[in-house]
Amino acid sequence: MTTDTLILYIVSPAYSGSTLLAALLATHPAIGTIGERGHFHRKMVARPVIGSPFCSCGRRFDECDFWLAVSQQVQAAVSPAGYRRPFSTFRLYPSLPRRLNRYVEKLCLRHALQHTSQQLPWPVRGRYRQAAQANAALIQAVLQVSGKSVFLDASKSEMDAVLLNDLPGFRVMVLHLIRDGRAQVYSTLRHHQDRDAAQASRQWAGRIRAQQRLLGLAGLPLLRVGYEALCADPAGTMASIFTFAGLPADQGSLAFRQPHLHIMGNPMRLSHDSEIIDRQAWRTSLTAEQLATFTQIAGDLNSSLGYR
Ligand SMILES: [Zn+2]
Repeated sequence: MTTDTLILYIVSPAYSGSTLLAALLATHPAIGTIGERGHFHRKMVARPVIGSPFCSCGRRFDECDFWLAVSQQVQAAVSPAGYRRPFSTFRLYPSLPRRLNRYVEKLCLRHALQHTSQQLPWPVRGRYRQAAQANAALIQAVLQVSGKSVFLDASKSEMDAVLLNDLPGFRVMVLHLIRDGRAQVYSTLRHHQDRDAAQASRQWAGRIRAQQRLLGLAGLPLLRVGYEALCADPAGTMASIFTFAGLPADQGSLAFRQPHLHIMGNPMRLSHDSEIIDRQAWRTSLTAEQLATFTQIAGDLNSSLGYR
């Protein structure tokens, strides 16, 4: 048996219900989470310029005891320069153009897949190590402050999952959260008025394929979770996830609006509607033309995921 700390990582495209899934899984007594760990830097170090400054407990992040305790522990474990950099998204060169950061990210990813980061060229190696240390410290701090043993990360990025699996002393198991592509196209069109159905369909298919490709390469233990199945049978779906993670399957609960949770993610976490409903608005709201466009671009992929 490995003694490495388990990170249960939710990989998913946007609008897949990852915040709901994280809130449900966090009812398990062994699981500690902050929702989307990737936002830690933006919320606590850079401070919210974009997005909500509020924790799910109702306090501001910079006034929440939990967040303050966690950030103190991380700051004690890493250098000031390492803490100031956006380590929670592994963005190693924040002052350089995004294109260069993409290149560095790919380089790091390639080494993380093989666990050969000590062979990264200097100075990338040093920055990568600092970011890794800061993320390890963050995860350990969350587990210690909350008194839990398994870290749940709802950051959604498949690249992040691979990079975290390269942290010494940690191992990643992936929950690949999938939702009917037509529902996701509908969500994208609602949130981004400047996109059309073809763009939204290509975007969704591109995300799913990229996730499948990298997760396949990484060979991480993986459980596919359907959003629709989660809504139809939350208790059963949670039990199968806990079993997958090697946890007692009967210890979660559907009472997921716990005031003592300190989660960041989408605004759903702050609402008080505790019903779990798959509204399926796309069925009545997408036009026949939009549905035909989706089928042409991504119908095969959607079918391969079990959506007819
Ligand atoms: Zn809080």
